[in-house]
Amino acid sequence: MKKIVMKFGGTSLATGENIRRVANIVADSVKKDYRVVVVVSALAGVTNKLIEISEQAKKGDEKKIQMFTKELAEQHLVAVSKAIVNKQLQKETAKIVANTISELKKVLTGICYVGELTPKSRDYVLSFGERLSAPIVCSALRDLKFEAQFFTGKDAGIVTDSNFGEADPLMDYTTHRIWQTILPLLEKGVIPVVTGYIAADQDGVVTTLGRGGSDYTATILGVALAADEVWIWTDVDGIMTTDPKIIPSAKKLYLLSYQEAAEMAIFGAKAMHPRALEPVIKASIPVRIRSVFHPDNDGTLITKEPEIKLSAIKSIKSTEVVKAVAMIKDVAMLNVSGGGMVGAPGSYAKVFEVLGKNDINVMMISTAVSEANMSLVVRRSLLGRALSTLEIALLGRGLVNEVTAEDDVCVIAAMGANMKGTLGVASRIFTAMAQKGINIRMIAQGSSELNISFVVKEKDGIAAVRAIHEEFKLDKI
Ligand code: ASP
Ligand code: MG
Repeated sequence: MKKIVMKFGGTSLATGENIRRVANIVADSVKKDYRVVVVVSALAGVTNKLIEISEQAKKGDEKKIQMFTKELAEQHLVAVSKAIVNKQLQKETAKIVANTISELKKVLTGICYVGELTPKSRDYVLSFGERLSAPIVCSALRDLKFEAQFFTGKDAGIVTDSNFGEADPLMDYTTHRIWQTILPLLEKGVIPVVTGYIAADQDGVVTTLGRGGSDYTATILGVALAADEVWIWTDVDGIMTTDPKIIPSAKKLYLLSYQEAAEMAIFGAKAMHPRALEPVIKASIPVRIRSVFHPDNDGTLITKEPEIKLSAIKSIKSTEVVKAVAMIKDVAMLNVSGGGMVGAPGSYAKVFEVLGKNDINVMMISTAVSEANMSLVVRRSLLGRALSTLEIALLGRGLVNEVTAEDDVCVIAAMGANMKGTLGVASRIFTAMAQKGINIRMIAQGSSELNISFVVKEKDGIAAVRAIHEEFKLDKI
């Protein structure tokens, strides 16, 4: 009997109707004799709203708390009434929602009076999104006459370090706990419904696993339960060769390696939480990305050695070098230059230290062996802060004599495991750019050779993606 952990994201749970659809998808799998553990995100947009209200509460805005909790209650109660038919179940679930919201209200009011929002209290507030969605999904399953039971990540036994906001699981202890809480239910044929994203540290204090962390919850559970597969249900058919909004002929990728998928997650292919693959890689548990709107579609399968399985599926060749191309917008490029950096150990470190201390994440770096200049890519919204902090800290100290920026650029990333060791990939990519008359402003290829990233003017971005998609015939993949 197959054991499957299924995670449903916020969009899949946006409304009561969607929640019913999700319950039916789970039901279909259970009828096929799968043992299913369900992991749920908060309803669409709720986590963002919780972040906002916690900031407002900190500023002392008590009126907003009133309004917010009222709206949140309404949103969830409407979902309850649409997702569940049985009146008694509706009533019970509505009561859980009401109790949970009144607890949230107390927490927010507390923050409001103290005027302080710590990483710890923030995680506590953020946990309410999933604490509200899980009981509704659980009742929707009961409504379909399945035995189901909901758990918070904490009650399920997911134990993390105390790194609030980006906690990581203590896997051995977690596994031990999950064997006590979830496994016996699963063996009895009960469907456990677990809140994604939230867990608790060793003292039982609520933690969160980072934004989009429900994926991570699913893979943690998958590993702890030695599941056959982890399915990430979302609103797209799988991981695509590129954004279909840019290129309508973009194709779904059937199979990817963990490495490739991780690479794409980082490049915002909207696939996954960046750390979510870590536990399953070690345990070699396959992950599947699939769409709640097309449950007949197999989605994208992410495994250890997709090449072997690839050849088993007819009509798919495993020779593609570049498998996907992405455009990352809303970025800016900084150029830091100065003769003082040449041959001066620690000079690059100073640049990164300044940026790091000011919470500016660097997405891409490239330097020339002349050492006299360095190019960096950061989020566009952080450009102003990056420029001013670098100027204040470094200019006129004999190291850096100029910091310039371009904010009308985008990053193009071409990815694929077979790029490693294949000759001529870079040449094909850059020849394709030259043929379209696209100028390249900056290039980076890590030694993993899994991706080549480069910067072009934003106006050339779509043409660049299209040129690579054509050059590597990705619409025929
Ligand atoms: N609700 C959380 C978030 O929006 C976790 C998740 O959706 O996976 O980040
Ligand atoms: Mg979400």
